[in-house]
Amino acid sequence: MAGVSLSVTVLGCSGTYAGPDEACSGYLLRSDTTTVVVDLGAGTLANLQRHVELGDVDAVVLSHEHPDHWLDLPILRNALRYVLDVEGLTVHGPAGVLAAARELIGEVEPTFVLSPIAAGDALTVGDIALGFSRTDHPVETLAVRAESGGRSVIYSADTGPGWDPSGFGDGVDLFVCEATFRPDEEGGVHLSARQAAGLARRLGAGRLVITHVSPLLEDEGQRLAAAEAYGGTVELARSGLTFMA
Ligand SMILES: [Zn+2]
Ligand SMILES: [Zn+2]
Repeated sequence: MAGVSLSVTVLGCSGTYAGPDEACSGYLLRSDTTTVVVDLGAGTLANLQRHVELGDVDAVVLSHEHPDHWLDLPILRNALRYVLDVEGLTVHGPAGVLAAARELIGEVEPTFVLSPIAAGDALTVGDIALGFSRTDHPVETLAVRAESGGRSVIYSADTGPGWDPSGFGDGVDLFVCEATFRPDEEGGVHLSARQAAGLARRLGAGRLVITHVSPLLEDEGQRLAAAEAYGGTVELARSGLTFMA
């Protein structure tokens, strides 16, 4: 197993807005040699520094322009530009979030290199291969598939039930899927736990982690609802937890 590791560490997972004890969305994707931050919502920059030096981040991937997924980017820029003297960090994302970042930050270069991505694109950061799929969400939103050393992860980003993940192929070791809604809210711009479980089955996921649960909902209730529909163990995202692919 030497040289084979791919993991997701949760930096924040509160759905739509931060809860009293949980930051907005952000994840640290790591192989043995590569560190990628996927989403950087409010509160995640603080948690990121529990795990890595900011200068050691190889790339940032932003799933979409909703502020709960990227609003610590301007603060990361403060750190890199004014304190740590780091330049040239690539920030990948759909055109909408990159435009919003440029609007808010102003002078993004030379700290960041903004790199537009779209569904169907493929890119490689170090030894992690990344692919993207457009989800069912009101703005252009990209789910992320990561692969390294034969292990794979899919992150749903935000999505409603209309997302077709078939472009990601069959089978994935670890599926980190949003489950924002109650059962009676099904059909909107997010998933219920039951719908997240259905997607996990469709993807042939080896392991399902539920995330982006609304602060108004009981995490454990969402987990149990997902587990019932999934027919297997379902885990809950929580800041500081690391899940191996
Ligand atoms: Zn969100
Ligand atoms: Zn969203």
